[in-house]
Amino acid sequence: MTKFKIALAGNPNSGKTSVFNALTGSRQHVGNWPGVTVSRKSGNYKKNTDIELQDLPGIYSMSPYTPEEIISRDYLLSNQADVIVNVVDATNLERNLYLSTQLMETGIPVVIGLNMMDVIEKENRPLNIEKLSYGLGVPVVGMSALKKTGLNKTMKVAIEAIKQREEIQYPSYDNRLEVALSEIIDVLGNTVPIRQQRWFAIKLFERDEVARKQIDLSACQSKEIEEIISLTEKIFDDEAEAIIVNERYKFVTQLTKLCLGEKEDVHFTLSDKLDRILTNRFLALPIFALIMWIVYSVSIQWVGGAGADFVNDELFGDIVPNFLTHLLDSWQVAEWMRSLIVDGLVAGCGAVIGFLPQIFVLFICLGILEDVGYMSRVAFVLDRIFRKFGLSGKSFIPMLISTGCGVPGVMASRTIENEKDRRITIMTTTFMPCSAKLPIIALVAGAFFPHQNWVAPSAYLIGIGSIILSGIAMKKTTLFNSDTSPFIMELPNYHLPIMKNVLRYGLDHASAFIKRAATIIFVMNVIIWFTSSFSWNFQMVESDQSILANFGKILAPLFAPLGWGNWQGTVATLTGLVAKETVVGTFGVLFHVGEIASENGNEIWNNLALTFTSLSMYSFLLFNLLCAPCFAAIGAIHKEMGAWKWTAFAISYQCGLAYAISFIVYQVGTFIQSGVWSVSFVISVILIILGIYMIVRPKKDVASFHFETINTTLEALK
Ligand code: GDP
Repeated sequence: MTKFKIALAGNPNSGKTSVFNALTGSRQHVGNWPGVTVSRKSGNYKKNTDIELQDLPGIYSMSPYTPEEIISRDYLLSNQADVIVNVVDATNLERNLYLSTQLMETGIPVVIGLNMMDVIEKENRPLNIEKLSYGLGVPVVGMSALKKTGLNKTMKVAIEAIKQREEIQYPSYDNRLEVALSEIIDVLGNTVPIRQQRWFAIKLFERDEVARKQIDLSACQSKEIEEIISLTEKIFDDEAEAIIVNERYKFVTQLTKLCLGEKEDVHFTLSDKLDRILTNRFLALPIFALIMWIVYSVSIQWVGGAGADFVNDELFGDIVPNFLTHLLDSWQVAEWMRSLIVDGLVAGCGAVIGFLPQIFVLFICLGILEDVGYMSRVAFVLDRIFRKFGLSGKSFIPMLISTGCGVPGVMASRTIENEKDRRITIMTTTFMPCSAKLPIIALVAGAFFPHQNWVAPSAYLIGIGSIILSGIAMKKTTLFNSDTSPFIMELPNYHLPIMKNVLRYGLDHASAFIKRAATIIFVMNVIIWFTSSFSWNFQMVESDQSILANFGKILAPLFAPLGWGNWQGTVATLTGLVAKETVVGTFGVLFHVGEIASENGNEIWNNLALTFTSLSMYSFLLFNLLCAPCFAAIGAIHKEMGAWKWTAFAISYQCGLAYAISFIVYQVGTFIQSGVWSVSFVISVILIILGIYMIVRPKKDVASFHFETINTTLEALK
């Protein structure tokens, strides 16, 4: 039997990924913002593996402007799909149907999967599915990916549509436009396949360059087509592309009127009422800061802390090392081997794994915020602020993804069309505390500030703040000054968290964390143990005399102005470039004294407190939070920037900013503690003033700049 291919297409947030997951049993991440499906994914239909489903990126139109649009358009026009299931958000019919009209024109049979019917039914909104199907001329099936209803019926209708191969229906437009399109089809003759004639006629009419290049038109054909277009433009007294857009909107508006009926009275849903508070111009930001404060305090300092105390103190501080020491002693294992296992691997990996409870609780909290629909509101609120400063609201999506991992976060910047805005986002998005940086935050918060719950939330807020303020300052430089690309986003209704989604989110991050601890962190710990236990002539020595210490001591003075010019902090920071969790792993190995089963498993952190003060540790945290990310993320930055020059610029900016902020915090903190003026303190005040100037100085408006130039040129000519 031949394999059928069904393409899932639709607007961002229409529920495509939820439909795809439900139909294939796959576990793609369901997100509440556009750009979640940046690449195409495929999977087999659970109930019939001869049917393959393609989840296409969410798009608003089939114009090849954004990467998502290009991927979706190329796939659909390559004629690989047998049928398109167009996932339409029934609560947002008008905007969604605009895309449907274009999907129908591709010449591939279309079946509309009318999603979110649970919301329509719950709110008792009038919607006549039969009329919609009649008006469009394609089958429409009501469904809910959330309640898992109607999905299999949609598949059944789609399979029938492939088998029946009925004549394709197209939305029909104004007669004068229809005449022009049929004339273009006549001119095209058999230059294009019959099923794609309407698509190419419309695209050529719109003067779509990509479509124009795809077909071989003779000079004569091109001339005739241009004449048809020009004449129609005169008739409509409008430009060709605008004519098509208007006609599509007219069609969609009439259709929605037909099937939605009249709304008797406008009533506010619970979501609307909540949004009045949560997206309120003045309250939105404080509420967001408060929510994040609670999330980070709860997960890192309260709940996570209790779990981590057990894992850190009992499990890896006492039970496991004790057990292993006795076991290895009874096997009479060589001293170096015992040291590698107990001091290197258990101490290093244990120090990292110890933070697993925090990671898990944090991602459960973030999963809930995302699933209920709150994070989409944050994107909306931040967009409002970003736009005020000429930044793209779309940079919030990479930021949010970076709370998990910077690599996909940097890649998500592809959704930003404006190149300068994209570069700003690539350079700054890794300031977010990713899951690998969490152990560092939790370590500093737990070991140095156990009774103050501002440290963990401050790391998150400083990450976001650095992104926003860097963006504002960069946008004012000639290197990044540009007009900003528009950002459209719909706000889904709030709903109660679906525990399955939330748990999956938490477990996915926790298991990725364990996998990294068992692979890359494990290997790094062996290397750190080796270089910190042996001298250059391979004698086992005290760590202070080791290869690692020798190396660290060369670079350590560089960090002295930040308050932690010791070799341990220096090498921990450097090993963090391989993976940020290694920073904590390195401390685990270096500050583990070897006296296992001491009264308190907390020994590593107690020893650490002998080398760092609270202030220098906080400065260490800030540096590691903001400096160059791990090599994997640097690789992603390079891939997205496409040039070494830009990669180097990004890394230098990140390290420079990290150094400046840690320096300022340490020097100002020292001044507050001691009250003594120093050169370093004066420098930090100058740096603060410079930073404020870069942020508040007036921006040179691109448009008015051009006018100024033109005016001066005109003056000169006079
Ligand atoms: P995509 O961007 O089109 O892939 O959409 P997603 O599958 O990521 O879904 C976007 C949001 O809509 C998520 O919060 C889903 O939980 C929610 N959602 C998806 N389908 C339904 C549905 O049928 N009903 C309701 N109420 N919510 C849904």
